[in-house]
Amino acid sequence: MLKAYSYAAAAADKPLGPLEIQRRDVGPNDVRIDILFCGVCHSDLHMARNEWGGSNFPVVPGHEIVGRVAEVGSDVSKFKVGDLAGVGCMVDSCRTCASCKEGLEQFCEGPESFTQTYNSPDRKSGGFTAGGYSTSIVVDEAFTLSIPGNLELAAVAPLLCAGITTYSPLRHWNVQKGHKVGIVGLGGLGHMGVKIAAAMGAHVVLFTTSPGKIEDAKRLGAHEVVISKDPAQMAAHANSFDFILNTVAASHDLDPFMALLKRDATMTLVGAPEHPHPSPSVMNMIFKRRSLAGSLIGGIAETQEMLDFCAEHGITSDIEMIRMDEINKAYERMLKSDVKYRFVIDMATMEK
Ligand code: NAP
Ligand code: ZN
Ligand code: ZN
Repeated sequence: MLKAYSYAAAAADKPLGPLEIQRRDVGPNDVRIDILFCGVCHSDLHMARNEWGGSNFPVVPGHEIVGRVAEVGSDVSKFKVGDLAGVGCMVDSCRTCASCKEGLEQFCEGPESFTQTYNSPDRKSGGFTAGGYSTSIVVDEAFTLSIPGNLELAAVAPLLCAGITTYSPLRHWNVQKGHKVGIVGLGGLGHMGVKIAAAMGAHVVLFTTSPGKIEDAKRLGAHEVVISKDPAQMAAHANSFDFILNTVAASHDLDPFMALLKRDATMTLVGAPEHPHPSPSVMNMIFKRRSLAGSLIGGIAETQEMLDFCAEHGITSDIEMIRMDEINKAYERMLKSDVKYRFVIDMATMEK
């Protein structure tokens, strides 16, 4: 076992603080990564505060991990010591079910489902997995990503969750050049959605509740920006969207967005709020055969595809670097939609 330093929530109503943890010895298929940067996802906050129920304390959050390989197991072929490596939201799955065989490990149908990077029962060492707010992590190479060398490393970290969670539905719902695509919410996920949809050639409309983000949205690649609280601005876009990706982290009325879809078009939810949305209007859906859907991160192969797509298009996250001990302040700012546009922890600042 190897000692690692981390930041953890001891209980839902406690701020995060330092915690020493153990990482398993490197097995034949494992890589040990010295973590350099870890992004701060709104899911980290939901989980640390037990907003979804089922959190197992202490919770060491963090699933947007980049670092350098420090040790590899005897059978590892994809990585050598010194390589850059990344870890996203999953560290294992059953690997034998139909979804796993199709490379959709996030939908693993095995009895334990997939192993989340934090707060999942740990298949290898018992207890619960601990995430990337930590100095090191040991992960099977099958769940470790190769990091393109041409991008700024700290700004790559958020691709491991915010990047793949927006890339995957944009691909699955077949967004094409010239499609009119809406992105709802300009936070960590939303700003990646804007960049990726624009790189796919879509006409991107950003919906925000924050008038102060209009100029940024355009700089990030949005062709139009709509203040979603303004009914007149919303009505001007009725029946016109090929696809809408909704990243909002809080409960809200979905109907004003559903009304903007063309016939047969889909709005996909990736935001996972603590409290449910009000039930959407059935009429809104049946009269135009519209769909409301959901999407969960993306498989390992697709995550590598997304990283390569971002390398090709020069896409990274817009980040604000924080010290590890600034995490509780960062959570408070995230709750006020005051993130530009992803906090990333510099792991060199971890207290030892
Ligand atoms: P974030 O950085 O906090 O961004 C969320 C954005 O939602 C805010 O910036 C804000 O955008 C908007 N918003 C917040 N409160 C709102 C409200 N009351 N009404 C309307 N809009 C509001 O969060 P994130 O890290 O992008 O994560 C977003 C959500 O996705 C979280 O619930 C997270 O758990 C979930 N998530 C899901 C998956 C998945 O696989 N499905 C993966 C990762 C994260 P504006 O200021 O522009 O309005
Ligand atoms: Zn996440
Ligand atoms: Zn499986």
